[in-house]
Amino acid sequence: KDILVKGSKKTSVILRDGIQVDVRVVKAESFGAALQYFTGSKDHNIQIRNIAVKMGLKINEYGVFRKDTGEYIAGRTEEEVYRAIGLQYIEPELRENRGEIELAKEGRLPKIVRYEDVRGDFHIHSTWSDGTASIEEIAKRAQEMGYEFVGIADHSASLKVAHGLSEEDLLKKIQEIRRLQERFDVRILAGTECDIKPDGTLDYSNKVLKELDFAYAAIHSKFKMDRKEMTERIIKAMENEYINILAHPTARMIGKREPLDIDLERIFEVAKETNTFMEINAFPDRLDLNDVHARMAKEMGVKMAIGSDSHAQDHMRFLRFGTAVARRGWLEKKDILNTYDLREIEKAFGR
Ligand SMILES: [Zn+2]
Ligand SMILES: [Zn+2]
Repeated sequence: KDILVKGSKKTSVILRDGIQVDVRVVKAESFGAALQYFTGSKDHNIQIRNIAVKMGLKINEYGVFRKDTGEYIAGRTEEEVYRAIGLQYIEPELRENRGEIELAKEGRLPKIVRYEDVRGDFHIHSTWSDGTASIEEIAKRAQEMGYEFVGIADHSASLKVAHGLSEEDLLKKIQEIRRLQERFDVRILAGTECDIKPDGTLDYSNKVLKELDFAYAAIHSKFKMDRKEMTERIIKAMENEYINILAHPTARMIGKREPLDIDLERIFEVAKETNTFMEINAFPDRLDLNDVHARMAKEMGVKMAIGSDSHAQDHMRFLRFGTAVARRGWLEKKDILNTYDLREIEKAFGR
């Protein structure tokens, strides 16, 4: 749409959708230093520069240099830059000056989850409720994506705008999943995204919930309750023995709906007591919980599950945005249900 700067070393343009892109050309020996320097964060880079100064070094976008002689020491890769100032390599998602530098000095950084550690998705809507893909199409795509399992989590009866399923239809859906399973290697998990009613009771009876492989509980109605009431409403649902995951806990919709007024710390405490996984919802409008919540959950010993909240086959790729949140939240493999194998997942769901 617009060219801001045009040159042989630096070019900046504005794309049609309004995003600014800066292109820099640097020598190979400066590549890592430039990447580190320009991608921040600012707070992190200030600390990095301070460490260098104390060591008699200088860091800039061209590399790491000796302050007195100006001799080039490092800069070809980011790893090299960190090593030159005595730090363990810090993953980009951790560069926020939230304690990562101190841990890197001691070589004690967490081994954050990798994208390839994720073995499947739990939160997918099919044509049984408001999704556009059939369970068969979802299973096919899951297999193409190399997943080991895929969870079908359609809406429950009271969510009429999203064609929530009656108990009777849910039982039929489970039958269809069991039939389809014979033709697929990927394990199709029969689930639901069960509404939490305003009084904290669930939309389905335990008799039906028991037949599923797993169940999400979620708030989709009466979003404005005071903090105490809303927190109790959610806790009551989590205490049901058949609820495994709390979907999009704050119910935030970016630019459309403010988060619920809830006591997340209290909810996390109950999550730990009841073995309820907290969802990182990867749908771009939600991204709920966020990275700060994820880190708080980890510190409290609460486990999380990433869900794409797909309503179409193409949405299934959104799962990686949730993994990105998990990485920013310092989560490791063991903190995330999606990295478990099927046996461990069944055990976690306790059915
Ligand atoms: Zn939902
Ligand atoms: Zn959903």
